[in-house]
Amino acid sequence: MPSRKFADGEVVMGRWPGSVLYYEVQVTSYDDVAHLYTVKYKDGTELALKESDIRSQSSFKHRKSQSSSSSPSRRSNTRSRSRSRSPGRPAKGRRRSASQSREHKDDKKKTIQEASLALPVLLKPSENNTKRYNGEPETTEKNDTSCIILEQKLKPDLEIKRVLEQYSLRSRKDDKKKEEIYSEKKTFVAVKPVEKVPTKTKELEFGGRIGTFMLILFLPATVLYLLLMCKQDDPSLLNFPPLPALESLWEWRVFGIFLLWFFLQAVFYLLPIGKVVEGLPLSNGRKLEYRINGFYAFILTAAAIGVLLYFQFELHYLYDHFMQFAVSAAAFSLALSIYLYVRSLKAPEEELAPGGNSGYFIYDFFTGHELNPRIGSFDLKYFCELRPGLIGWVVINLAMLLAEMKIHNLSVPSLSMILVNSFQFLYVVDALWNEEAVLTTMDITHDGFGFMLAFGDLVWVPFVYSLQAFYLVGHPTTITWPVAAAITVLNCIGYYIFRSANSQKNNFRRNPADPKLANLKFIPTATGKGLLVTGWWGFVRHPNYLGDIIMALAWSLPCGFNHILPYFYVIYFICLLVHREARDEHHCKQKYGLAWERYCQRVPYRIFPYIY
Ligand code: NDP
Repeated sequence: MPSRKFADGEVVMGRWPGSVLYYEVQVTSYDDVAHLYTVKYKDGTELALKESDIRSQSSFKHRKSQSSSSSPSRRSNTRSRSRSRSPGRPAKGRRRSASQSREHKDDKKKTIQEASLALPVLLKPSENNTKRYNGEPETTEKNDTSCIILEQKLKPDLEIKRVLEQYSLRSRKDDKKKEEIYSEKKTFVAVKPVEKVPTKTKELEFGGRIGTFMLILFLPATVLYLLLMCKQDDPSLLNFPPLPALESLWEWRVFGIFLLWFFLQAVFYLLPIGKVVEGLPLSNGRKLEYRINGFYAFILTAAAIGVLLYFQFELHYLYDHFMQFAVSAAAFSLALSIYLYVRSLKAPEEELAPGGNSGYFIYDFFTGHELNPRIGSFDLKYFCELRPGLIGWVVINLAMLLAEMKIHNLSVPSLSMILVNSFQFLYVVDALWNEEAVLTTMDITHDGFGFMLAFGDLVWVPFVYSLQAFYLVGHPTTITWPVAAAITVLNCIGYYIFRSANSQKNNFRRNPADPKLANLKFIPTATGKGLLVTGWWGFVRHPNYLGDIIMALAWSLPCGFNHILPYFYVIYFICLLVHREARDEHHCKQKYGLAWERYCQRVPYRIFPYIY
């Protein structure tokens, strides 16, 4: 007779099936034949687990700040974006009688067989069972033979009622149990992962190794092509520009100015001004701290530029050496990516990015191997996301405006240039003002820091996003006031959708019980987070992308219709966001399972209503 490691009644940590998360459970019995322990979770859910999925409590080290209790009230009430699955919350007074227990034991082998043959299985009818209202797919454990959900037979009427209730949408205003639900949800979130089992990235994105290799070549080539095209008198698509001499692309002085810019922004980032906030919990439960001072950095930069202009510094220099600046930024981002990859080889496995740990050099180099590379408290990815590139974009636009005035001998900039500058200025200021929101984006939470983000942040954003302003310097376009007014209205509509959709979701994530959101309905999910199905997020599944695309169009329209080049941004941006939306859908499907499918049924369009 094989010896068992854990005794009946012992409180241990049981792995939640299909995840790397362990929760406190009590051993209720052991099946000598199947070598399975029956364990009971705090919500009363009973599962049969293998011995390898059970650990003693002493083998888990809790963080100091983490209470041994799973009380929700002890947790931060900020954004709860734990990706953890939860076994649910404790059931009230559901103790099985001795006879039930015997019956259960007798039925167990049969149940195990049935369950493994006839999945999906239903959870036992526990009053507070998470899965009753979380939209969790009943087939969650389909591929996990280490666990079988017991007590699946329900009274038919109760079962029907539960299935009907499962996805019923509650108006949060009307729902008297709102607070209760959320305190339950916080309980799920509170039960946090205490152990991280590192996993390799299996699903490769961006066309895998070949795709990422091509992108490493294609992205810099595209920037070069666009800038050369923009310099031409006739920037028609088929009018290919002659390739410049290599030595004309590089100037050490320009590179020096770029370095100065980068390190000036780094100094601003390090200034002890602005609040410090915690990011979302990492897979090991830890939260990193971030200083929110991007807006201050912007003000300080504006002051520095003001001083330069006061002392007659020619910002026009930026326009004259635009290509060289782009090449300098590209060289720097390549060097940074190499550094990031080399240092990531020494990073502990748990600090690697979920999406960039494939083991393939090119792929990991491109997508980013390490999730949050830091030098001391200096977070390289977070810094690059919003500072040198984004603020640099505004400075470049300003340089283009001044160049236009100088070259065309204007006393005031053209209306087109004013519109492009103002719209994009608003966009950047908005991003810096809402800097904290970047902490919940895919870039920060999922993607590592590698060539993709380094090149994107330092080269693509400042030098491609400023294409309209660059175009207008060489290709003056006159628009009338009514046209300008119509474009402004379009931009305002886009901005309104973009901002209110992002705020609605951010506020909901931060405080789901916010009275201002009381009229919104949502589908609860197993992770404890809801999916909004009314308001902007009930209109399309990515309303913020819709707003962003409308704005992108408004930025291109002031350039007229003579050439397609200034429309590159909006065309590229639609492709980017359609691809990004597909990536996000994929992640959400993995996170929320059936609840996500229900959401998709309820909100059928992804970005464009009635189109896509
Ligand atoms: P989003 O802000 O769109 O966030 C997507 C996440 O929102 C999902 O992963 C999910 O995360 C949550 N979510 C999805 N549906 C719902 C719902 N119904 N209810 C509540 N939460 C939901 O992602 P991005 O990081 O891609 O975009 C952020 C902003 O940045 C956007 O406005 C975008 O347009 C902009 N952007 C701009 C770019 C540029 O170059 N200018 C490039 C990329 C983005 P969870 O459930 O885990 O919270």
